[in-house]
Amino acid sequence: MSDIDGRAVAKAIRADVAAAAAKLRAEGTAPTLAVVVPTDDEGTAWYVRSIKKAAEKEGVDCRIEQLDAPGKGEIIAKLQELSADPDVHGIICQTPLPEGVTLPEVGWYISPFKDIDGANSEGLGRLAQGRRTWAPATAAAVLELLKREDLELAGTRAVVVGRSTVVGKPAALLLLNESATVTVCHSRTKDLAAVCREADILVAAVGRAGMIGADFVKPGATVIDVGTNPTDDGGLVGDVDYAAVAPVAGRLTPVPGGVGPVTTALLLRHTVEAAELSKTHP
Ligand code: NDP
Repeated sequence: MSDIDGRAVAKAIRADVAAAAAKLRAEGTAPTLAVVVPTDDEGTAWYVRSIKKAAEKEGVDCRIEQLDAPGKGEIIAKLQELSADPDVHGIICQTPLPEGVTLPEVGWYISPFKDIDGANSEGLGRLAQGRRTWAPATAAAVLELLKREDLELAGTRAVVVGRSTVVGKPAALLLLNESATVTVCHSRTKDLAAVCREADILVAAVGRAGMIGADFVKPGATVIDVGTNPTDDGGLVGDVDYAAVAPVAGRLTPVPGGVGPVTTALLLRHTVEAAELSKTHP
């Protein structure tokens, strides 16, 4: 088994971002990402700071828009304001959202030209139509990792465990758009292990530590572990039982160091793409 090195992939993407950002700056455009943070959750604050640090390292400005105990209206107003601001090119609405507010209902107010994390339903619609769009960055990271492994995706059997709007569904659509034969599993799937064992490519996006054991994996399969589950000692583990699956899988992403760093790198790549797009769609 070989590890798929997400940190190396992220480094390569970020080098491209730095070059694109420098070119944009030389042309008079400072690529700018705005992150709306509608929560005071400490884990979220840490994650957002890590995005800002990564952005600024590669020459992308990052504005953190902290909202204290906002209602739906305030979040929407902030997203509309940023959508209309010509100095902002990419917008993320960070989760968790306040009780009773969902991402699709506020994401709708992010301009599709700035929706670099696929929060506007327009993006998912375009994905379903097989058109070019910015998919949610985590789903895009799954595909990026697979493509950089030089795997033949057309005709391959892919199984995605998880059907959330931000990860499972867009990951499945991206794989389908590459002509993989895709099965999407969820909490009601019967005999999950048997379905997963059919997969040449298995994507785990559930949020249950170590639930994908060796009996879920076809020998030699490529396994992408999206799960991020905090441990009691402050660490992070995936949805895949790494020690059990490593001897069976052909390739496997570790957690941490797999999908996570690529997700951050793609948020930056999408932002410089949006900044480039702003020249033709101001
Ligand atoms: P959600 O909770 O929104 O979705 C979880 C999905 O898993 C649901 O579709 C659910 O099914 C399914 N599920 C739950 N239990 C089971 C089970 N026993 N068997 C099969 N399917 C099950 O989570 P997200 O999609 O937002 O996130 C998934 C994981 O990815 C989490 O660990 C999250 O932390 C991580 N993540 C990682 C990111 C990264 O950058 N690395 C970014 C975003 C998320 P049902 O629909 O039937 O309820």
